[in-house]
Amino acid sequence: MTRAALRCRLCERTQPLTPRSTCPTCHGPLDVEYGLKNLALRTDDKSAPRSMWRYAELLPHVPADLSTPGLTPLVEAPRLSQALGIHLLLKLEDANPTHSFKDRIAASAIAAAQAFHLETLCCSSTGNLGEALAARCARVGLETVLLCPAGDPPALATATYRAKILRVAGTFDDCRTLERRLEELFPWGFVEGNLHALASEGAKTIAYEIAEQLDWQLPDAVISPAASGTLFAKLAQGFDELAALEAATGTRPRLYGAQAGGCPPLATAWADDRPLSKVLPDTEVRSLAIGDPAYGELAVGAARMSGGAIYAVPEEEIADSTSFFAQMTGVHADSAGGVAFGALLELVRSGDIAPGERVVLVVTGTGLKPYGYDVDYAPQEVTSDVEDVLAVLGVS
Ligand SMILES: [Zn+2]
Repeated sequence: MTRAALRCRLCERTQPLTPRSTCPTCHGPLDVEYGLKNLALRTDDKSAPRSMWRYAELLPHVPADLSTPGLTPLVEAPRLSQALGIHLLLKLEDANPTHSFKDRIAASAIAAAQAFHLETLCCSSTGNLGEALAARCARVGLETVLLCPAGDPPALATATYRAKILRVAGTFDDCRTLERRLEELFPWGFVEGNLHALASEGAKTIAYEIAEQLDWQLPDAVISPAASGTLFAKLAQGFDELAALEAATGTRPRLYGAQAGGCPPLATAWADDRPLSKVLPDTEVRSLAIGDPAYGELAVGAARMSGGAIYAVPEEEIADSTSFFAQMTGVHADSAGGVAFGALLELVRSGDIAPGERVVLVVTGTGLKPYGYDVDYAPQEVTSDVEDVLAVLGVS
């Protein structure tokens, strides 16, 4: 049913949708391309799904179950709007089934996996993606293998779904390296590997929803936390597609990204106007502790092209920022939300966001999610050596 194809970002060759990490010709990164002509983003059909699947024509695969995730609330923040002199709206991604925007990525990944008849999904996770994937796999009956940094336990509920959790001695970036090795060995779907181009498409539906919830009038600016750069780059793509389809009125919003001061690869590349370099994360904000962002260059480019920016918020300000945001909005965001709010304060102070502007802050996850392991479930401990992992999986 889809009119989409995979297109190489470097050599621009296209090929049919397939589970693939890189271009077969030049090993460049792949994106999903749509023949936008005659596609409809806006629907007046009252029976359209009350979820991200209402935009099915602009997604690569569509599952049987259209009930979730997405179509999260966009709400006013009257006290902060008054205090800051702007019109602030909050996009509450904590209203998704496992309380973060990662439900959109997991849902897209699983729709693709089902289309390709893959029975096991694997991802590296600092918490939210792992839970999103485990929950949705449980819903449709697929297996999940999660790679979590040893010092960074997954969301507690993840174990409840009885996903196979491998606790890897190392950082998130070590988990990603291991995931790439496993991809050479197993016929699985890898959310940030052979399914990445397809899975990440789910995140752009946040941009569509913002437009629709504002009656197809674009806001002046959108602020979100930025880690791998996927959400940020996909927001930009979503607003570009809205423009290409002439589905919304107003100019494309300026996009502002927010990073934690202890892990600012995107903010540094933006501030110094230079290519991205990896950093070793040293931040308390687990969901932003990605030192080697997969969509980093795209994210920095999206900030520049939109007239926005990417800021780093000092570590010592994040806890207060998260609490103050809760006090002023009644929304208990996770610390990534506190980082986004810290960036908003700086933007208002500096005048980058002008009085009266309409601004959307994306609350990407909840502060109410416990992390750790329940007493009945022991995750398997592994080194980052692939032989060790194969032994644990019983295939050595
Ligand atoms: Zn290529």
